[in-house]
Amino acid sequence: MIELFLCMDKIRILDKEFALSIPYERIHEAVVSMADAIYANHKDSNPLFLCVLNGCFMVAGDLFKEYKGPCEISFIKLSSYSGTTTTGEVKKVIGLNQDIRDRDVIILEDIVDTGITISHLIRDLSGYAPKSIKVATLLLKPKAVQTNIRPDYVGLEIPNDFIVGYGLDYDGYGRNLKDIYKIIEE
Ligand code: 5GP
Ligand code: MG
Repeated sequence: MIELFLCMDKIRILDKEFALSIPYERIHEAVVSMADAIYANHKDSNPLFLCVLNGCFMVAGDLFKEYKGPCEISFIKLSSYSGTTTTGEVKKVIGLNQDIRDRDVIILEDIVDTGITISHLIRDLSGYAPKSIKVATLLLKPKAVQTNIRPDYVGLEIPNDFIVGYGLDYDGYGRNLKDIYKIIEE
């Protein structure tokens, strides 16, 4: 039953239908490339990764298995999304327990859409005087970006469709899908 569900090209979550968009193999290639690219630039700097929950838990789990150098990993939380449209509201950062002063910080995101979340996060974190802040995101919607933030590491650029799977949800569901699905607009 579960296997059938995972192999399907179309799925339904609550009131919406989604079609298979990025299979896990393609996601994994992108994650490995990101891990290698980050490592190439941060071999000697013992970076501190701040992974933005909830969405990035799958990227984090896969990326750190491939990241070859010393690093610290921490998780923070904030969210701007409700349903399928950006609300523009950005909540405060919670869970920042590390001292980030003079550290090379790498924010790890699942997706950058408008860029509003990440630009607020960079502004908040800058207040703690880190040495540098870089942004790594598995997915980027270049046509949706409304800020002047450009992530330093991008796994895949995708069109402006609403997607689910691989950590990303639709109203709380779909995060556990191994592949990424995009919404089928009626
Ligand atoms: P931004 O502030 O860049 O517009 O949005 C960032 C956050 O919105 C992401 O971290 C993610 O949680 C959510 N988001 C953006 N686009 C999508 C999408 O297509 N699907 C899902 N499920 N979440 C998204
Ligand atoms: Mg996110």
